[in-house]
Amino acid sequence: MMKVLRRSQALRKALDPYRNKKIGLVPTMGALHEGHLSLLRLAKKENDITVASIFVNPLQFGPKEDLRRYPRNFLRDKKLLIKEKTDFLFAPSKKTFYLTDFQTSVSVKCLSEPLCGASRPGHFAGVATVVLKLLNLVRPTALYLGQKDYQQFRVVTQMVKDLDIPVEVRRAPIFREPDGLAMSSRNVFLSETERKEALCLVRALKLARSLTAKGVKDCRRIRREMLAVIKKAPHARLDYAEIVDAATLEPVVKLTKGRKALAALAVFFSKTRLIDNVLIKG
Ligand code: AMP
Repeated sequence: MMKVLRRSQALRKALDPYRNKKIGLVPTMGALHEGHLSLLRLAKKENDITVASIFVNPLQFGPKEDLRRYPRNFLRDKKLLIKEKTDFLFAPSKKTFYLTDFQTSVSVKCLSEPLCGASRPGHFAGVATVVLKLLNLVRPTALYLGQKDYQQFRVVTQMVKDLDIPVEVRRAPIFREPDGLAMSSRNVFLSETERKEALCLVRALKLARSLTAKGVKDCRRIRREMLAVIKKAPHARLDYAEIVDAATLEPVVKLTKGRKALAALAVFFSKTRLIDNVLIKG
């Protein structure tokens, strides 16, 4: 039976008997899809106990972002988690999670600035803060994050390293729809036309990967070709298309042997912002 906990102290107490077990934590904002479930399955495989959390964290949304319209479907999520034999679901309310006098923020400086950080100021401080709180409550052996939010993965990994947090951060590959679109809770907002055009993200990334496989090293050229693919989608509005160092997230001008890089994209369709990425090697 999956236990559902609504309050931080209740979660702590519920986990007390399992302190000598391996605990895997999968934090989510709900509206679960196969991508989330793939993290859970990995956590399940590698641990004795799995904890999933569902919390639409207000700290990581900007004032003009989609906090209010973010998809929520608790009952469906709960059913999916039960089916996956999740042991604990932590789903706190905003009020009990952040008390009225809450005032702390964790910021991972350089890694939070480029890519999504440039158009979403404060987003990664919100992410780091909520993740640190969850880590302190659950004290998991391993934390499961998706490569889909690669920058988030890097920010959290850096925080764990900088603050000596005793947890292993595990990254799971991007789970995709059969046609290649990266699964996202926000995909439900796409109109039929936008859904078709949204394939431009994965097409641009595939092109970036095939260019590098052919030996192209010039990142400006790769970026130009990616942009051309996005441009073909009439309703796509580019936020960014970048080739960055996979560790530092700083722009890469020329791919070199042995250096891991990341081709990353963010594209708006109306108000819906989609992201996707692929790791590439020189
Ligand atoms: P979210 O609910 O969007 O905050 O995502 C919760 C976790 O699921 C994060 O670690 C995401 O990176 C991960 N995730 C979201 N979409 C996917 C996907 N398509 N494939 C794999 N992991 C994903």
